[in-house]
Amino acid sequence: MFAACDSNPSSGCRCLTHCYECSLSVSANVWDACSEAMIIFDKNNLEDMGYVVENNVIMSALTKQLDAVSDQVEVLYRSRAVGYTWPLSCHLSDKSPWVKIDLADGRSVETKLLIGADGQNSMVRKAAGIQNIHYQYDQSAVVATLLLSEATDNNVAWQRFLPSGPIALLPLSDTASSLVWSTSHEHASQLLSMDEESFVDTINSAFWSNLHHSDFIDTAGSVFRSAISLLMPSGTAARQLPPSIAKVEPKSRAVFPLGMGHATEYVRHRMALIGDAAHRVHPLAGQGVNMGFGDIACLTHHLSTAAFNGKDLGSIKHLLQFETDRQRHNLSLMAAIDLLKRLYSTSVAPFVLLRTWGLQTTNALSPVKEQIMSFASK
Ligand SMILES: Cc1cc2nc3c(=O)[nH]c(=O)nc-3n(C[C@H](O)[C@H](O)[C@H](O)COP(=O)(O)OP(=O)(O)OC[C@H]3O[C@@H](n4cnc5c(N)ncnc54)[C@H](O)[C@@H]3O)c2cc1C
Repeated sequence: MFAACDSNPSSGCRCLTHCYECSLSVSANVWDACSEAMIIFDKNNLEDMGYVVENNVIMSALTKQLDAVSDQVEVLYRSRAVGYTWPLSCHLSDKSPWVKIDLADGRSVETKLLIGADGQNSMVRKAAGIQNIHYQYDQSAVVATLLLSEATDNNVAWQRFLPSGPIALLPLSDTASSLVWSTSHEHASQLLSMDEESFVDTINSAFWSNLHHSDFIDTAGSVFRSAISLLMPSGTAARQLPPSIAKVEPKSRAVFPLGMGHATEYVRHRMALIGDAAHRVHPLAGQGVNMGFGDIACLTHHLSTAAFNGKDLGSIKHLLQFETDRQRHNLSLMAAIDLLKRLYSTSVAPFVLLRTWGLQTTNALSPVKEQIMSFASK
């Protein structure tokens, strides 16, 4: 197997929001800017709640594992793949039966199985001629490191759905959180160029302001909430409040255009796509990396079985089993994330009412929340 990597573990990776100081078990509070509806995923009550792990921690753990098997695995740091030569699926030609990878420094390597883990613009996917169904959202995400006004336990991830897109705070430490604010391209550029004080004020107001509330939705939501609390007294919890932000870490702001993409095929003879090379999602559910980890776990399972049975690792037979398993899971998750993005992009009253009642009902039903967490963690 071969995987090229153009980053060096000592420099850390190009990191987005999965830049967390350590492995931190977190709860999550998600609510609507157009109503009082909130859903709480409490780590104390749910088995499959999430963890926040700094990207550098993952990189250093992987490097340690790779070092431990350095007699079997050679990592070509700072190398870039520039071309691929594919084998024919049968062996009736003079061509090598392996995949050949040309590197930018002129070297080349051959492998029985090429795993394309080269991100949303995957060159492996393009070189294999696999179609990628994709579109750009009307949003970009602004990320930044924020310092809280006061030290707290800070073990809750907060996300508020504004009509322009979700704003999220992910805990880094007792005093710092990471921001991911998905918003219109124009607003994202403004957020990037405004001075630090205005940036912080805008974030606090996005979390606290009730500008998008209406009396009609508030009343309908509160009647529904009272009805739920009568039917399920334990189904409604006291509302918690997000931390307030004091400062933004200088030069920590960055912007990423958002889109969705899905490769129509994940595998070919001697090739498999994983991670963003196979699927790209909106960050509103924080699922991008998880889906990639799920791909890896599934591919490892099928390859281990093939190796145990003495089969060729690059054979399409077990690669197709990986594709079926993962497409079944990834496509449903992608559809759900895309639906959420669309449902929360409107402030039209019937839709706001629908999602308010939906969120309130889901929040009251612990088994449903457990199912959501369990599915998302696969
Ligand atoms: C704003 C934002 C916030 C996000 N927040 C979250 C979150 O909270 N939780 C979550 O789970 N996900 C989140 N994601 C998604 C997550 O970042 C991606 O799903 C994840 O980075 C994909 O990992 P990957 O390894 O597949 O691809 P990438 O991270 O894109 O890595 C691909 C690697 O391949 C290398 N590469 C590319 N081409 C070549 C080549 N020719 N030769 C050698 N190397 C090559 C690249 O340099 C890169 O190192 C977020 C995304 C965005 C945009």
